[in-house]
Amino acid sequence: MEIADRRAVTIHYTLKNDADELLESSQGRDPLTYLHGVGNIVPGLEKALAGKQAGDVVKASLAPADAYGAHEEQRVRNVPLRKLPEARVRAGQRYRVQTDRGPINALVTAVKGDYATVDLNHPFAGMNLHFEVTVVGVREATAEELEHGHVHEPGGHHHH
Ligand code: ZN
Repeated sequence: MEIADRRAVTIHYTLKNDADELLESSQGRDPLTYLHGVGNIVPGLEKALAGKQAGDVVKASLAPADAYGAHEEQRVRNVPLRKLPEARVRAGQRYRVQTDRGPINALVTAVKGDYATVDLNHPFAGMNLHFEVTVVGVREATAEELEHGHVHEPGGHHHH
């Protein structure tokens, strides 16, 4: 079965940056299952995987526009320390922050006086991403999965 919209796709993947450093990998873990065609994964990777089938190996190098977008300066903000959850805030810490687009990870990039500089961009924003993907399986999504916009795998997603 080929990868197409409204199908559940299981992949193993490795993600590297321009310097060939490993950013993420499913190796040694359960493979990732996602619903194709609804933006569960970055748009450039969906495009690269369309039409492939189990056993195929796909390499895709994506510019930021096809991945997590540009790094936007207006998403870097100064936040009063009292608004952050930790007693001791240090550069390099990450926080989960609620936004109107859902929860995101914010990175503290600097602390000065009573303020921390917080970067709300996705950690991979502004980066070229190099994926190597092995397609493990493709199946039709269930009606419930299509309605929810995500897959329901055993041991994976439980209900909200
Ligand atoms: Zn669900």
